[in-house]
Amino acid sequence: MSMAQQSSPTSAVDGIRRPMSSKDLRKAVGKLLRGAQPLPIVQAGHPVLREVAQPYDGELSPELMADLVEAMKAAMHAAPGVGLAAPQVGLGLALAVVEDSGDDEDDPRERTDLPFRVIVNPAYEPVVGDDGAEDLVVFEEGCLSVVGYEAERARHRSVRVTGQDETGRAFDEVHSGWAARIMQHEIDHLSGVLYVDGADPRTLSWTGRV
Ligand SMILES: [Zn+2]
Repeated sequence: MSMAQQSSPTSAVDGIRRPMSSKDLRKAVGKLLRGAQPLPIVQAGHPVLREVAQPYDGELSPELMADLVEAMKAAMHAAPGVGLAAPQVGLGLALAVVEDSGDDEDDPRERTDLPFRVIVNPAYEPVVGDDGAEDLVVFEEGCLSVVGYEAERARHRSVRVTGQDETGRAFDEVHSGWAARIMQHEIDHLSGVLYVDGADPRTLSWTGRV
């Protein structure tokens, strides 16, 4: 996800995406890491952004995973952004990095400190109130793969996020406010969904930040 302001792709044959073999996945990551740095971020229109990312099943060595995470972190920082999903660097793998800092109590977006972390095979569900009602909040949102624009987008204020870290350790936690928005945005990327899909198109605005 972009700062919002505060302010080898997977193979496809006849429209059916085939999962990469372990070997092909390692090759794709190796190629990515030998290429341009910081990793170039692909833009809307690239097919990898519309594919369901392949679940990660421990195919990468700890060293290769560490290198991939470092490269994605560097690309996120360079952008700069507060989240980056693997498909955004052309890798159709269910993995994303997130990081945000902010502890302004007056920020209506409830932007709090979200230390750097890797989320693997993540999923989210809304946290509903006792009355069963979903708590939706609307703020402007942007994406490093839809560079230069932002639009108003409703999101769940709180979500339960499950998944693993890069070592395979499972987590199950609740995030609220801006951190919840970052999680939803990045996890949506792994399903081939862009924030603009659910944004109010009449609010789409050029930011001048590219
Ligand atoms: Zn994005």
